[in-house]
Amino acid sequence: MMNPFFLCIQCGARNEALFRIFTKSALTLQTCDNCSMIIDKYVEYDFTTIFIDILLLKLSAYRHVLYNSNTKSYLSRLVALTLLSFSYVEWVHQKGKKEHRSEPIFYELEWGYYLIIGQELIKAALFSLTFLLFGFISSKLIMHQELFPFKHMIHGMAMSYCWNLVTIPSLVWNHYSTYHVLSQIALLISCNHTFHVCICPSYVLSTVTIICSWGVQWSAEHGLQYTYLFS
Ligand SMILES: [Zn+2]
Repeated sequence: MMNPFFLCIQCGARNEALFRIFTKSALTLQTCDNCSMIIDKYVEYDFTTIFIDILLLKLSAYRHVLYNSNTKSYLSRLVALTLLSFSYVEWVHQKGKKEHRSEPIFYELEWGYYLIIGQELIKAALFSLTFLLFGFISSKLIMHQELFPFKHMIHGMAMSYCWNLVTIPSLVWNHYSTYHVLSQIALLISCNHTFHVCICPSYVLSTVTIICSWGVQWSAEHGLQYTYLFS
């Protein structure tokens, strides 16, 4: 189902249409009622350009993907790929740490790998639930939005989670900590963009939401590591 409105990628204002069709071969991009810029220039761009702008963490690209584009079927597959590959990186790193190896080595799949997948699923679920809860509270009590943009928030968090793919090069080049820190910074900025686009442009609210979500995830991670299965 199409959105009842489209977001201006420059200012975030809601608009009714992205373009006006005159004939089958002639259409014109609409300008925003609020800022008078073209509402969404990305409708004329190919996927590669949009993807590069997402990698550059441009807020305008997030607005386009979350509200003005209907092609998000690839997201679920990308999230599954991220979960499997990121869990493998974590598993190799944790196993190497236990065996006091400085260089990562490639292991055959073992039961421990599947446990790490479970651990990562729980962490991601807790992070997402806390993020959604704070987003819901902000949208209803502070922004007084009629409809909570649940679907857009889920898509935004899925995009953010895919930043964990940044850790994969550590399997080849080592320096796991550097890649992990970079991936987490990008993930948190991406979550901040999602909050800005879907709920409100308040840095205070988005920062509180992200810190609380990250704190819940961090607690779960350390709680799980001290249990019998993950120790
Ligand atoms: Zn605008």
